[in-house]
Amino acid sequence: MTIDWFDMMQAKQDPVVAAVLDAFPGSYICAITPKETPAMDFTPNSVAASSFAEAFDDHVSHVVADGKNEERARYFADNEDARRPSIGAGRLGNECKRALGYEYHRVPVDEGREPNGKLHRIFDRGHDAEERMAEYLRAAGFTLLTHRADGKQFRFDVVAYEDGKGRIKGMADGVVTAGPEYIGRTKMAYPCLWENKELGNKSFNKIKKDGVQKGKSEYYVQCQLNMLYLGLHESPGLFTMKSADTQEIYAELIAFDPAAAQEASDRGVQVVKAASPEELPRIARDSTGFQCKICDHKKRCWSAAEAPAPARAPTNWLGKANS
Ligand code: SF4
Repeated sequence: MTIDWFDMMQAKQDPVVAAVLDAFPGSYICAITPKETPAMDFTPNSVAASSFAEAFDDHVSHVVADGKNEERARYFADNEDARRPSIGAGRLGNECKRALGYEYHRVPVDEGREPNGKLHRIFDRGHDAEERMAEYLRAAGFTLLTHRADGKQFRFDVVAYEDGKGRIKGMADGVVTAGPEYIGRTKMAYPCLWENKELGNKSFNKIKKDGVQKGKSEYYVQCQLNMLYLGLHESPGLFTMKSADTQEIYAELIAFDPAAAQEASDRGVQVVKAASPEELPRIARDSTGFQCKICDHKKRCWSAAEAPAPARAPTNWLGKANS
């Protein structure tokens, strides 16, 4: 609404208004003219709405991803040790040796597979969730250390091949040094490894149903290598996870499995010994394999000139490995 002084002057010409002003001198008259209302279209405009949302996501994601990529580049530029080739324990559960070779040799991922804002947010979610779960465990009576006395995380770094060239690295979320003697009917043992994950419902439910070893072998292998190389193999490791969708929590005690640890360690040695990723066997017979669908080096892998035959055990008619 606006006060339109021109209309007020017009109003004073009106005999009725003039009579009122004569009768009540000192009165004020103002004419308020509503502004013209823009024509409204009440049809939902989802295209325009999603365009803004997409543009916003794009803007935030790019800024965050660029910042993190720069941070990472600076870290590698300033840290000679970080530049030395290594493979992480968390990756050695991947059964495709060639994929591990690409990571070990730091082969750039295929175009379009670079970490985007969403992936960075998923990583951040994992880090944030770790602190929250640590808070819950401490409140529940566990003595949990997430850092060593020097402020660094619990890490290992082993030379897996000559001249210190090939290395397998690992980092644990924490070590539980004390806590309740029993949880339910299970007698607890300390110190033990602590690993935590925050997952979407689908992955959460799979692990809850099948257990860590079957539900997500990468996590199982990571626990095994951490237990082995951090000297925490005498007590079962405590694996905790929370569903990002429902906030449900799940916990499992993972006993040390020397055979699995040895197998993963051997895989790591084979990976670091290979002069190039293409020396290592692919997991699949063709690029339609399910592991390949989510592989960051799929294009490079399947356009590689020479391709060693997949190192697979011969199978019988049931599709099972011959013993
Ligand atoms: S594309 Fe498939 S076979 Fe090649 S590295 Fe990736 S997962 Fe392995």
